[in-house]
Amino acid sequence: MEKISVVIPVYEEEENLLPLYKELKEVLNSLPWDHEIILVDDGSRDNSWNIIKEISSKDPAVKGIRFRRNFGQTAALVAGFDEATGDVIITMDADRQNDPKDIPRLLEKLQEGYDIVSGWRKNRKDPFLTRKLPSAIANWLISWVTGLHLHDYGCTLKAYRADVVKNIQLYGQMHRFIPAVASIYGVEVAELVVNHRPRVAGRSKYGLSRTFKVLLDLIALKFLLSYSTRPLHIFGGVGLLSLFLGFISGIYLTYVKYAKRQPIGNRPLLSLTVLLILAGVQLIVLGLLGELLTRTYHESSGKKIYAIREKTP
Ligand code: UDP
Ligand code: MG
Repeated sequence: MEKISVVIPVYEEEENLLPLYKELKEVLNSLPWDHEIILVDDGSRDNSWNIIKEISSKDPAVKGIRFRRNFGQTAALVAGFDEATGDVIITMDADRQNDPKDIPRLLEKLQEGYDIVSGWRKNRKDPFLTRKLPSAIANWLISWVTGLHLHDYGCTLKAYRADVVKNIQLYGQMHRFIPAVASIYGVEVAELVVNHRPRVAGRSKYGLSRTFKVLLDLIALKFLLSYSTRPLHIFGGVGLLSLFLGFISGIYLTYVKYAKRQPIGNRPLLSLTVLLILAGVQLIVLGLLGELLTRTYHESSGKKIYAIREKTP
C-alpha cells in the first residue's frame, strides 16, 4: 500500500465542507502513506463548489470534480473512483456523519488481507421512522437476496482495494451494493463497527422514496448476480415447466375427447392448456434472446466472465 484516495460525494454541503476537510486532513496526515482527497460536487446549487475550489487551490492533495447537474450519489462515487490514483480507496459522506478517526482502523483491517472493509453504523444517529426502520428492512432483504451477510449496507464509510472497485460497473442507486456486486468476482469482505454522528448542518438529501428505488435495484442486482451469463437457465427453466404442464393437460383433454367422447370446448382446462403452452414457448424464446444479448454485452464491452486475483510473474 502506498497511496490512499478518499472519495467524497458532495451535494449542497457548504457548511460541512471546511470542518470535514480539517478533520479528515488531520487523520490522513498522521498516517505513513501518501493521500489524495477527491471531492465530487454532484451539481450543488449552493456555495459548495467555490469552497471545494478554494480548498483545492491551497492543498495540492485535494482534487475537485464538478458535475453539470445532479446525477446522484452513485454517479459521484464512480466519478471519484475513475479519478482516484491510490491503491486503496476510502469512501465517506460529506455531511460529517462518518468519523474520519475510523479510517486507520479500516485500513488496518484491509491489510489483514481483505478486499473490502465495510463500516457498520451500529449506533446510528438518524431518525427511526424514515431512516432506521426502512434500512433495517432493506438490510435484511439485501442480505437474503445477495447471500453476502453484512449488518449495514448503507454506510458510505468503506475501504476498498482500488482494483476491486475500478473493475465493477454501477448504475442507479447501486453504490450500497458495491460489496455484493464485487462478490461476483469473489472478493473478501469484512465489517467493522464505526462511529456515527447526527447531522449538524445541511439537510438529508433523501426521503422514504429511496426505499423503493433500492428495492427495484435489488431485483436487478439479483438477476445480474445469478443469471447474467445464463439467462436461458431462468427463463428456459420456467418455460420448460410450463410447456410440460401444458402437454400433460393437453393429453388429458385429448383422452377425454376421443376415449370418453365428452365435449371439451367449454372446459376451463382447455384455456389453461393453451396458455401454458404459449407461455412456455415464449419464455424459452425470451431466454434465447437473453442469451444473444448477454453475448453482445460481454463481447462489446470486453467484459470477462471470470476475474483473476493474481498471476505468477
Ligand atoms: N449526495 C450526493 N448526491 C445526491 C444526494 C446525496 O452526492 O444526489 C451526497 C451527500 O452530499 C452526502 C452523501 O451523499 O455526502 C449522503 O447523503 P445524505 O447524508 O443526505 O444521506 P443519508 O446519510 O441521509 O443516507
Ligand atoms: Mg447523512
